[in-house]
Order: sequence, then C-alpha cells, then structure tokens
Amino acid sequence: MASHSVVCWDCGSAVEDPHLSVCPRCKGLLTIRMDLEPVKEMRPEDLRGERMGVWRYAPFMPADPANKVSIQEGGTPLYRASSLGEAIGVPGTHVKFEGLNPTGSFKDRGMTIGVTHAREIGAKVVGCASTGNTSASLAAYAAKAGMDCAVFLPAGKVAAGKLAQALFFGAKVLSVDGSFDDALDLARRMADERMIYLLNSINPYRPEGQKSVLFEIMDQLSYEVPDRIVLPVGNAANIWAVYKAIKELEEVGWIDRAPMLTGIQAEGSAPVARAFASGSADFVPEEHPETVATAIRIGNPVSGRKALRAIYDTGGFSATVSDDEILAAQRLLGRTEGVCVEPASAASVAGLAKLRREGVVDRGERVVCICTGNGLKDPDSMTLGARAPMRCGSSVEEAARILSG
Ligand SMILES: *Cc1c(COP(=O)(O)O)cnc(C)c1O
Ligand SMILES: [Zn+2]
Repeated sequence: MASHSVVCWDCGSAVEDPHLSVCPRCKGLLTIRMDLEPVKEMRPEDLRGERMGVWRYAPFMPADPANKVSIQEGGTPLYRASSLGEAIGVPGTHVKFEGLNPTGSFKDRGMTIGVTHAREIGAKVVGCASTGNTSASLAAYAAKAGMDCAVFLPAGKVAAGKLAQALFFGAKVLSVDGSFDDALDLARRMADERMIYLLNSINPYRPEGQKSVLFEIMDQLSYEVPDRIVLPVGNAANIWAVYKAIKELEEVGWIDRAPMLTGIQAEGSAPVARAFASGSADFVPEEHPETVATAIRIGNPVSGRKALRAIYDTGGFSATVSDDEILAAQRLLGRTEGVCVEPASAASVAGLAKLRREGVVDRGERVVCICTGNGLKDPDSMTLGARAPMRCGSSVEEAARILSG
C-alpha cells in the first residue's frame, strides 16, 4: 500500500475521521493525496508480474493488498474497433469494454478498494445509493467480505438486471420515492448517523480503484498516450478518477502528456456539459433529469466540479447526445464489433460520432471510448428497435423463404 492522506479538495485541510465524506471545515469534496516517491524508482514493466487488474497497480492504491476484498476486477479488453471507427469517421477508435468486470461494470474497480478500506477501518454495514450498477457491485463485494449491505435505489428507475443482482447477492434493497439524487441524500444522512459506511463515489477511496482503468489502457497501448479518451459522465467520479491517474503517471514520469478527456452526457441530464458550454467551473443542478441511459440519469453530480477541472485541464471537451443517438450508437457497436453495452456506455460512442461530425474531433485521432457497463443488465434497451423473432414452422422450405425475404 502506498502511504497516503485524505485531504479536502477545496481547502486542502487534512481529514482524519474515516467516516466523513465531506470536509468538516468547508463541506468541500475529499480526495486522496498519494505518496508516489517509491514509484518514481520503478518502471511499468516492474508491475507486469501481477495479473492485469486493479491490484497490479497496488503501489498507486491506498489499500493494503494483504487485506484485499477482490473478485478479480479489471483486466478488461481494449478492442481495436476499426469497423466502428470507419463507420463514425475516426478509424483509430478503441473500445475499453468495462462490461467484462465481475458484476458487469467499472464500479467493481472502485469497490475492491472501497470495501477493502471498509474492512481496514472495521466497518460492519456498508451502503450506497445507486442508479443500479453501484448497488450491484457493492452487494457482491459485501458478500465476499462478509459484511451487511444496504442499498438505496430510486423507485422504478433501475434496470431489471441490476436490481436482480443486488437482491441476488443478499443486499437489503430500499426503494426510495424520488430520483437518484434523493436516494443519495438519504444514504448520506444514514452515513452521518453512522448506520452505514457510505460507499458512493463521494467516498474518496472509490475513485482510487477506478484510476486503474487508465493504468490498464496505458499498459495495453504500451504507454503511447492516446489523443483522446471519451467517457459517459453521470455522478462524474469516473472522469475524475481517469484524470487523477493521468496526473499520477505524469508525476512518476511514466507519461509526458495527457489525453484530451471528453465527457458525454445525455441531453436530458447534462449539468456538466452545459457548464462546459458556458465556460464555467461550476454547474447548475438539473432538477428533473431524464434519459434512457439510467446510469447517467443524475441531476446533481457529486464530482461535477472535479469533472470540469479534468476536462479543462486536459484541453478536453464535453457534449450532450440525445436518447436516439445513444440507442443508435449502442446498436452500431453491437453490429460492427460484437460488443453489447448498456445505453449509458454507448453515450461515449454517440458523443465521439457527434463530435467528429461537428469537427471537434479530427479523423486522424487515436481515441479510446470507455464503455462502462454490460448491455445484458438492461435487456429492454437491447431489443428497442431490433427486429422481432420471426415465426417459423419446421420445414426447410419455410425457413429458406423467411431468410430470403
Ligand atoms: C456509474 C456509471 C456511469 C457514470 O459514472 P460516473 O462516475 O457516475 O460519472 C456510466 N456508465 C455506467 C454503466 C455506470 O455504471
Ligand atoms: Zn475543506
């Protein structure tokens, strides 16, 4: 484990109480300051003895591998997606498929570190609010760690597969009237009363695990920095985690420039993209977020200001896409690359296609789209706009007639 300290991102003061998720002085966001001096003596090859995954990068992580709660998260493929790339006019497109994590989303990267930390501080009950994937992941890691788990979900707004996962792993599922933001508010008050240890991404340990997606991309590209990384933005912790990883690799001298971080939001749920459009460092919350991409249906992103920093500081971009563009990109990815992602994940591809059309992205760029979650969790979205099964008797003639029709 790297030595580290929890500090306020806004006022810089050190925060000792491990149960706090905001600064006790200014209510600011927390972050973790890593001591990377020992890593400066190392080279990327020194880590290759470990299987690819979050724990390969233990020298960048604020948790002790001896205590790890792991179900082999990370180590996901980076596809050279040339057919998709040709279709959208960016031949150098790559897809990092995070849907192949143990519970089907990148949330597992953060949870292995978050739940390991929970074990290190002796937490007995962990909890979170979630649009679905965070609860599915936390429920699995809590099961692995032998902890109790409580999850707060916005009633009626969670994809079927994700809800099934949380129930399956034995979490207590509380269905809250209102939006994700309302569910998070309740979870935070439960944490203030010390009834749960909160593992939403406002917890500074989770983004630390999520940094590993960037470390893997660099490993998979032999440390040739891509021009751009495109990802969906909901609560905005993931884009912040990717940014933090870039800064840390620059600090230890393993890379010397940053990819342009490009955050995509859904039109009906776009506080970060709207702030970017107006050149602002802060955002105005969206009261009634709406989109088919439920994982990014978040009006008041906890890490929104951090996301804006990440985008501005890397010369990146932020844009919105419509639900139709998201669903079209989801299908295109399936039909050109054989990859099935959930709608939120397809927002990255939809955003790249749109920014290419608008000339923000050059044809010659080398781009990585982070596709955050597995489409199987949300089968309703997969069959929208797809051809229905065709009725067929048992004769070869009939089957042949249908196939040629
Ligand atoms: C959580 C999630 C997101 C959004 O990530 P943030 O860190 O909240 O911005 C996007 N896609 C999927 C599939 C997710 O589960
Ligand atoms: Zn502070």
